[in-house]
Amino acid sequence: LFVEAPLGEGARVVLEEGQAHYLLHVMRAKVGDRLNFFNGQDGEWVAEITETAKRTCTAVCARQLEPQTEVPDLWLCFAPVKKTPADYLTQKATELGVRVLQPIFTRRTIVSRVNTERMLANAVEAAEQSGRVSVPEIREAIALDKLLASWPAERRILFCDEAGDAPSIADALMTERGGSWAVFTGPEGGFDPAERALLRAQANVMAVSLGGRILRADTAALSALSVWQALTGD
Ligand code: SAM
Repeated sequence: LFVEAPLGEGARVVLEEGQAHYLLHVMRAKVGDRLNFFNGQDGEWVAEITETAKRTCTAVCARQLEPQTEVPDLWLCFAPVKKTPADYLTQKATELGVRVLQPIFTRRTIVSRVNTERMLANAVEAAEQSGRVSVPEIREAIALDKLLASWPAERRILFCDEAGDAPSIADALMTERGGSWAVFTGPEGGFDPAERALLRAQANVMAVSLGGRILRADTAALSALSVWQALTGD
């Protein structure tokens, strides 16, 4: 369970509302039962339920678990699309080990607002389900040129570019995989020529193709992340 409380040897966590209800009335948990907590900072802890009441359940952390899934240092910078809410992409990117989700506004982005609270709730749920002990950071949406103006020099850009000549992502990643990366995907109408030129002009960019067909924006993001996962095995 994801908890917003410090975790450590002997740390006492009081669960309320939804989480307490789920444990007490769905899972029929009782004193002495064990469960796992993570909070995104302190790793994953096995805790033992010490008290239950009508609406609360208290557990004390007993021991820390070895991290099962170290996530790669991979960001997803995606232009949100109208049809598929960012929730779906957030859930899949979390399962695929993304560390930061950065929605980007581009000239052809139709969506004007991104609900990052909803995205975070989806990320927490997907992290719990996938056994991650970290929840991806969900950043506020930002215009592409503003993001690139302060881009961290060491982070490499995997620019999914359906419009230009680019090696397949598999070939590209075959040769260079190390370090920190960010996958960039565009909106329904794609990046416009000026944005493509801006992305290709970045110092640490690698433009890649995801195959001969035009993928929907969310398919493209998942395809790139899946190839990443398959090749780097993180
Ligand atoms: N520009 C295209 C158009 O208007 O029909 C479609 C853009 S596509 C729906 C959205 C994004 O997915 C693109 O900006 C690109 O980042 C990525 N994408 C889709 N198909 C791709 C491919 N075959 N190779 C690389 N990237 C792709």
